[in-house]
Amino acid sequence: NNRFCHFKLVLLGDTAVGKSCLVVRFVRDEFFEFQEPTIGAAFLTQTLALDDATVKFEIWDTAGQERYRSLAPMYYRGAAAAVVVYDITNPDSFAGAKSWVKELQRRGDQNVVIAMAGNKADLEAHRKVDFNEANEYAEANGIIHMETSAKNANNVKALFSEIAKRLPNN
Ligand code: GDP
Ligand code: MG
Repeated sequence: NNRFCHFKLVLLGDTAVGKSCLVVRFVRDEFFEFQEPTIGAAFLTQTLALDDATVKFEIWDTAGQERYRSLAPMYYRGAAAAVVVYDITNPDSFAGAKSWVKELQRRGDQNVVIAMAGNKADLEAHRKVDFNEANEYAEANGIIHMETSAKNANNVKALFSEIAKRLPNN
């Protein structure tokens, strides 16, 4: 079976948590220590072959800066999925991620699939956000949670596959 679907996906989260790096890892399988800061938003696409369907993600990578926050609804409106990213070494970014989840649940599309990504999981020695605490938060809110590393690629493809599985008609 070769069904084809395409979905709008948005990345949200504080500055420097690794949103752009996650997208670049997923789309081009590359990583840059000096990833250029995102201005406004960037658009990329990537196609993922699942067992029973091919899913094309139309990805909006937003800038995390406060001054762009008012623009976020333009990007999450109509989005089938949202990846809310925090940095496991930065508790403020986890608080920021929770506020993005709230905003998506209140103002995003009714059936939006939300995934929380605890990024920079390669920096285990500097961890400040407990995995179980984040997992429990995600479970209580009915969202996906995974720890990822754009740097060593761990769980990046798995995260997008998990999202694809939860999207309608998959
Ligand atoms: P954004 O502002 O959320 O888009 O963050 P960027 O993607 O620009 O990344 C910010 C910084 O974090 C860059 O210096 C990256 O090299 C670094 N970074 C991103 N992802 C990872 C990761 O998984 N592990 C580590 N160690 N550094 C990362
Ligand atoms: Mg960026």
